[in-house]
Amino acid sequence: MIYLDYQATTPVAPEVAEAMRPWIEEKFANPHSPSRWGREAAAAIEVARKHVEQAIGLSDGRLAFTGSATEALNWALKGTMEKAPPSRRRIVTVATEHAAVLDTCEWLEAQGCAVTRLPVNTGGLVDLEDVRAAVDRTVAVVAVMLVNNEIGVVQPIAEIASIAHEAGALMLCDAVQGFGRLSIPEGPDLIAVSAHKIHGPKAIGALWMRNGAEPAPLIHGGGQELGIRSGTLSPALCVGFGAAAKLAAERREADHAHVETLWNAALGQLSPGWTVNGSADHRYRGNLNIRHDRLDAARLISDLRDIAFSLGSACASGSGRPSHVLRAVGLSDREARSSIRLGFGRYTGADELIDAVRRIDTAARGQQGLAA
Ligand code: PLP
Repeated sequence: MIYLDYQATTPVAPEVAEAMRPWIEEKFANPHSPSRWGREAAAAIEVARKHVEQAIGLSDGRLAFTGSATEALNWALKGTMEKAPPSRRRIVTVATEHAAVLDTCEWLEAQGCAVTRLPVNTGGLVDLEDVRAAVDRTVAVVAVMLVNNEIGVVQPIAEIASIAHEAGALMLCDAVQGFGRLSIPEGPDLIAVSAHKIHGPKAIGALWMRNGAEPAPLIHGGGQELGIRSGTLSPALCVGFGAAAKLAAERREADHAHVETLWNAALGQLSPGWTVNGSADHRYRGNLNIRHDRLDAARLISDLRDIAFSLGSACASGSGRPSHVLRAVGLSDREARSSIRLGFGRYTGADELIDAVRRIDTAARGQQGLAA
């Protein structure tokens, strides 16, 4: 199988599996218990925390592990709104955010908060003038992602954070798709990240919080994480996340150069008639979302079962409804259904990518009405 779905998840790095092994096979102590074994587990978690914090690279804050980035985003939004004064009941976000943000905002709206969802241009970028016009002193938090999971577009996070701060609001950044790949800009007060997008294990994420910007707890109990997030931590998952973050920081330049090579190699195999969805310039280039007139993308995926790639339109749970992201950049439903997403990275070989893109291109042209 050729795996080209790096935005969905990434292969676990061998170094990560190795670091986790003792914590799965032998070392089972509860990291919150005072025994020698418990203290050893707690110490390993603190080393892992440092690695993730260092990979985020911002000072003046601390990081709490969570069960996923989805949890981190729910916590950041709900906990910030819980603490916000009555004069600040608004959230400003963008139409192309992940469901973990958009659905949480919708839930908060039902609880009485006001939500402004900013549009994007055809490249997928938010206009800073729109941000400026929307953010005033009634806003508690501005939530914008660093890299879009569907089209790879990179938003101007530092500029958005300074607009939020000028109005006294906090800035939340969903950095899940950018963490470990791009440097995280200065500015956000809250940052959500996830291990499984950087060659770490699934079911662990984290929320980085600038000092003083900590949200009210979402999960109540023993207060194991900094007194504000409860639940026994998994040393194996934390150690795996730490190892993945350390590796990503060490390999950032090499990974970046490799992704550039892959992007160029993939584009080189596409015949005329394909269009890149989303800005090609303001983009993380491990995400190639493309469309071709009259392509039946769902059929293409089922015809090429030994290549793992996604519908560019990421239909909502098989409902056949095209994605909110492609609609937000102005594509028709038909164009969205003719879009595919190829995601590649550290462990993708240029040869296998070229082979896969050639076969995708041939199969696409072979579909009725597209034959060359
Ligand atoms: N935000 C973005 C941009 C994502 O791509 C994802 C995962 O698909 C998430 C949030 C949620 O991350 P997790 O799988 O850790 O809940």
